[in-house]
Amino acid sequence: MIADFNLRLAQESEGLVLDEGCARSGVAALLRDRTKGVYYLAEAAGVVVGQTMITYEWSDWRNGNIWWIQSVYVKPEFRRAGVFRAIFNYLQGQAQAQKEVCSLRLYVHADNTRACQSYERLGMNRTRYEIFELDVRKVGLALLVCLAALCGRAQTPAPARELVQARLAQEAPSLLELYKHLHAHPELSFQETQSAARVAEELRKAGCEVTTGVGKGGVVGVLRNGAGPTVLLRADMDALPVKEQTGLPYASTVKAKDAQGNEVSVMHACGHDIHMTWLVGAARVLAQIKPQWRGTVVFVGQPAEEAVGGATGMIADGLFQRFPRPDYCFALHDDAELAAGTVGYRLGYFCANIDSVDILVRGVGGHGAYPHKTKDPVVLAAQIVLALQTIVSREVQPGEPVVVTVGTIHGGTRRNIIPDEVRLQLTVRSYNEAARRQTLEAIRRIARGEALAAGLPEDRLPEVKASEEGVPALYNDPGLTERLVGALKGWFGETNLVEKRASMGGEDFAEFGRTDPKVPICMMNIGGVSPEAHKESQQTGKPLPSLHSPFWAPAPEPGIKAGVTALTATVIELTRKPE
Ligand SMILES: [Zn+2]
Ligand SMILES: [Zn+2]
Repeated sequence: MIADFNLRLAQESEGLVLDEGCARSGVAALLRDRTKGVYYLAEAAGVVVGQTMITYEWSDWRNGNIWWIQSVYVKPEFRRAGVFRAIFNYLQGQAQAQKEVCSLRLYVHADNTRACQSYERLGMNRTRYEIFELDVRKVGLALLVCLAALCGRAQTPAPARELVQARLAQEAPSLLELYKHLHAHPELSFQETQSAARVAEELRKAGCEVTTGVGKGGVVGVLRNGAGPTVLLRADMDALPVKEQTGLPYASTVKAKDAQGNEVSVMHACGHDIHMTWLVGAARVLAQIKPQWRGTVVFVGQPAEEAVGGATGMIADGLFQRFPRPDYCFALHDDAELAAGTVGYRLGYFCANIDSVDILVRGVGGHGAYPHKTKDPVVLAAQIVLALQTIVSREVQPGEPVVVTVGTIHGGTRRNIIPDEVRLQLTVRSYNEAARRQTLEAIRRIARGEALAAGLPEDRLPEVKASEEGVPALYNDPGLTERLVGALKGWFGETNLVEKRASMGGEDFAEFGRTDPKVPICMMNIGGVSPEAHKESQQTGKPLPSLHSPFWAPAPEPGIKAGVTALTATVIELTRKPE
């Protein structure tokens, strides 16, 4: 393709001097190569100060961040002679022909010799470059012509994105190693000692002041960078009692004792291993690009998200008092529906309020052959289960998200004995506090009413207990979320930010937004499905494994970069100086 491009441009535009340069390695290596190439070419072509150089790249986040780079040197007399139009038209066609391409970037240099020198001196710092970003699906001819006219004007500072990508390219191999290590060594909720120790060590190495044992085993790393806002980034660290079946070379074979003392297989089936990797990656990158942001970042490694209690434990232990108080809290979760490199977001409610409800249905036991001498709690429990279905369908206002699920039903010992009692365990999900209370009251009323209808006396009516330890609904601050969506579009490309539906899943990151006074919080999702699997699923309808599935693990290579980029970009956006 590059050779074809060279040929075509050479035919179309006499006076252009072209270089080759196309690579699939990291950005840092590309920039090094390009610097050399610039010198060789400058020498060979007799390029002098005052000439214009255009460099374009296109990137593909979905496909593992492959970059194509090509530089074009334009002699001054050809600068405005339709050459740009020819180049852009060609590039646009090429980019659109490749369906995966997300963004096309174009650099116009007024003075390539000085740019080269600053490359050499500062490594990645492209202070002499003017950078334009085009969304290839939207860019029109007018903009292209406009860009051509802009060529040669005063330059703007190097964007943080270039630096972040360069640093990330350097960190990527060791972050991948870290991820594989964490994946192979999962720990259950409130048992995350090794994971916490590793996160603490990595944050310390990155330059943070680290405190361990916050709450029950939480880690806090503080990275200071002068006066400015404080941003809290949170990653959870626990795994699940699931036996891994991904077949990955770094799959977990770990077994551990759960809270009840049973031996269970353990797996990072919710991707909290990649969350920790993102946190460490962001600490490393932010520590290396301090001129791009200001203020303080508080990195939080939180235990026990799955078992609930990790977030409240850290908050109760003074997370918001003992450490710099955040102006914003941000967290990411991997997403088992979105393609790797895509960001999912939602303004307002994102995850549901969870209540756990236990119902003890009492009866009067007896022989299976003489039901007339008993009050059968099995039949009563069955009637309660069915009647509970009418809460959502008949009582709650249509459109209000509520779920009532009876997850377990246990009673009886033998086929010919009518038991004394049956136990039900429910999970109740909601967003709105009024709908939540209405649902819990309806569960109590229905259990009692069905028992009365079955003829049970007052002292044998069901016992309904709602657990004290629920998870509140997660509310993404709309202003903060909107601001971050706008910023991240600039980093990931307009089409790679996807609005998600609110989920009835729960997430105790919600607790970070419920302190007094309230701190605005936002959680987003980062796609973890490999582009190939995502495409196949869309074409064939083949279902993808969900979070908590023994077959789920995020595609690490594009996924790690995307998560670190999102965390870093968030800090840069929230701490930048007001314009
Ligand atoms: Zn989970
Ligand atoms: Zn999770």
